Amino acid sequence: MTLLTPEVSASVPAFGPDTDPLEVIGWALQAHPDLVMPSAFNLNGVVLLDLAARAGYTGDVLFVDTGYHFPETLATRDRLAERYPQLNFVTLNAGASPDDGQTPDGLYATNPDACCAARKVEPLQRHLKSRNPSALLNARSRDQASTRADIPFVEDGARRKINPLAYWTREQLEVYATAHDLPVNPLYFDGFLSIGCWPCTRAVRPGEDARAGRWAGQGKTECGLWAGEQRL
Ligand code: SF4
Repeated sequence: MTLLTPEVSASVPAFGPDTDPLEVIGWALQAHPDLVMPSAFNLNGVVLLDLAARAGYTGDVLFVDTGYHFPETLATRDRLAERYPQLNFVTLNAGASPDDGQTPDGLYATNPDACCAARKVEPLQRHLKSRNPSALLNARSRDQASTRADIPFVEDGARRKINPLAYWTREQLEVYATAHDLPVNPLYFDGFLSIGCWPCTRAVRPGEDARAGRWAGQGKTECGLWAGEQRL
């Protein structure tokens, strides 16, 4: 028995580790013309967005406002929306703030899983449920963390995830971003190699994984969008 719709189960080409991300995106646009792209506008996300635009993507870029984003992240979103007018930037949970009552005060410290579930996963899941795209374009890569070391180009499930940057290293991403003068979140250059909400993100120390600054010391490595029972 398969949970995949006929569209989702469309066969995947035999991509190899050296396949150009543009080729993967090009295939994705053909196989899944309804795909959408969630993004938090980290380095990976900004590079993927530029590649997707070059490949002809003109769909939605979904950003979830948890109410706890750094101002630099919101400004990066706005700079990207200005640079890529052909894309439709959608902010879910818009207007969220630490005082909005969506979660008890300080839940991020006492139960970050519940905070992420309420402020990040649920708004995106609700949107995807109503929209029901067959696939998501995602910017994760293997070298971001040991927990992501096996990410393939294409992951099947209830909804297909397509990861064109799966095999790109951080160095490749930086070279691409520099070559194309991409509007990278300025916090990146202060050591915030992966940027989430301000209460749960610190700069990375030399030798650490790019995602080591996320929920540091809390025994948590993922927000729940890409791993766990509520994953997309
Ligand atoms: S990253 Fe932190 S503040 Fe943001 S939703 Fe998750 S627990 Fe809450």
